[in-house]
Amino acid sequence: MNAIDKLVEHFRRFPGIGPRQANRFVYHLLGQNHASRDDLARLITELKSEAQMCGVCGQFFTKKQPNISKCNICNDVNRDNTVLMVVEKDADLQSIEKGGIYNGYYFILGGIVPILEKNPENKIRIRELEKRIANTSTLSEIILALSATTEGDNTTTYLRETLTPVAKKSDLKISILGRGLSTGSELEYSDPDTISNALRNRS
Ligand SMILES: [Zn+2]
Repeated sequence: MNAIDKLVEHFRRFPGIGPRQANRFVYHLLGQNHASRDDLARLITELKSEAQMCGVCGQFFTKKQPNISKCNICNDVNRDNTVLMVVEKDADLQSIEKGGIYNGYYFILGGIVPILEKNPENKIRIRELEKRIANTSTLSEIILALSATTEGDNTTTYLRETLTPVAKKSDLKISILGRGLSTGSELEYSDPDTISNALRNRS
């Protein structure tokens, strides 16, 4: 496989990108000047040293100072520590933050559970979530905020089943987003008002 084909393969793994788009990206790069391509290559290399995963919620953040292991949100003591919202990915967290009505903490699953998946624990950060819940004595509610898609619903069902024992033990309420989110809609692309409504109407 030559460099062009390899790069097309890489772009194909990006979310929402098909083979034709991946191909267009590579030919776009070929049309760029050296400086622009070098800049992109350098930025990709620097990602690892510039950004890191928050040790508490699992979202990625850029390190402004070395030796910081928590993101801005987890570091913010003014947030409501009785509620934890579970989302699939960083982009979902950003959509909810834009809505501006949620003031609790988050947990990023880092994936979703496909239908008929035999090993869901390999697809999402469920062990880390259980640990996070066990280590937070102030919690009274866990909000499962997954996209209103088939896989999102499947993930919600799995999370409910898995977390129910710990929720019962610690007297935690497990809630899900309300009907503000129409069927098939992805949290990432929902507008702030829709998300706010879904959050207010959670059950
Ligand atoms: Zn965090």
